[in-house]
Amino acid sequence: LLGAHTTPTRTAVAEGTAALDVDALALHTELPGAIADGQLRVHYQPLVTAGTHRVVGVEALVRWQHPERGLLGPGAFVPLAERSQTIVGLTRFVLREAVAQCAAWRADGHDVGVSVNLSAAVLGEPTLVQTVRDVLAEHRLERGTLTLEVTESALLDDPCGAAAVLAALRAAGARVSLDDFGTGYTSLTMLRQLEADELKIDRSFVAAAPHAPTDAAIVRALVDLAHRLSMEVVAEGVEDARTADLVRGLGADVLQGFHFSRPVPAAEVFTGALASAPQVLDLTPAGLDGPV
Ligand code: C2E
Ligand code: MG
Ligand code: MG
Ligand code: MG
Repeated sequence: LLGAHTTPTRTAVAEGTAALDVDALALHTELPGAIADGQLRVHYQPLVTAGTHRVVGVEALVRWQHPERGLLGPGAFVPLAERSQTIVGLTRFVLREAVAQCAAWRADGHDVGVSVNLSAAVLGEPTLVQTVRDVLAEHRLERGTLTLEVTESALLDDPCGAAAVLAALRAAGARVSLDDFGTGYTSLTMLRQLEADELKIDRSFVAAAPHAPTDAAIVRALVDLAHRLSMEVVAEGVEDARTADLVRGLGADVLQGFHFSRPVPAAEVFTGALASAPQVLDLTPAGLDGPV
């Protein structure tokens, strides 16, 4: 693990079976304090209907406003949190924040749901289902307004256990979404047993669909399969109008991607171009690039 390029300031430190470099180790060590100190932020990315581009939901995406390093994306610290119980506190924070924000939007007349990502590591957490029940009750959020996103890989370790947890989460009033679908190894049997409410087609297929007939065929096949299993289909990673039109034509119900909005702070979700949709498609790509 210690290659020729290793310098005394970037030493790999063994932890478990893998290794973290000193930067990552520092972040890993600081994270619990940062959560307690209120340094995490939740940004929201709109999900819009495929036909009229009305905002029907938002995905909560965590960031870390680090005092020295600036705003860190989840790729820099969520995998670290997943190495320990820190992911439990992080998830609880995002869940509370996102549900409270969604309830506030709904009180303001925005008929939106909110989606929260769950790591594999929290699916086995005994308190998860009760936490979800408590948070929904505290904010009086209607059944089906909170969606919990899990990736296929999260289900692989213990498919039967995961299926039972997802069933309990649905019984508690949450929807279940299969995130980044198509990149993992979910068998069709598992898909049937899971009874998920939503399938999010991974952005690698969505982005390629306008250029590659194979990817377009895969998107259409996934849409058909999901619809036959009574699942709603979200196409993620929609970066331009052409892709939006194409995946709508292939049957996707809901679209998400930079074409509509990047993830933004809560205060910006309903103040930008999307607040005055449907003319969002008339904007130039440059006008859509930044946060709206
Ligand atoms: P994800 O759940 O698949 O979230 C979508 C990611 O794709 C987000 O990256 C989003 O900014 C990005 N994205 C959205 N539209 C587009 C697009 O049109 N083009 C491209 N290139 N990217 C797009 P982000 O915010 O960096 O999050 C990355 C991943 O980190 C998430 O992937 C999710 O797996 C994880 N994550 C984020 N927040 C949380 C959290 O609160 N808890 C857990 N457990 N994981 C989280
Ligand atoms: Mg997600
Ligand atoms: Mg995703
Ligand atoms: Mg993805």
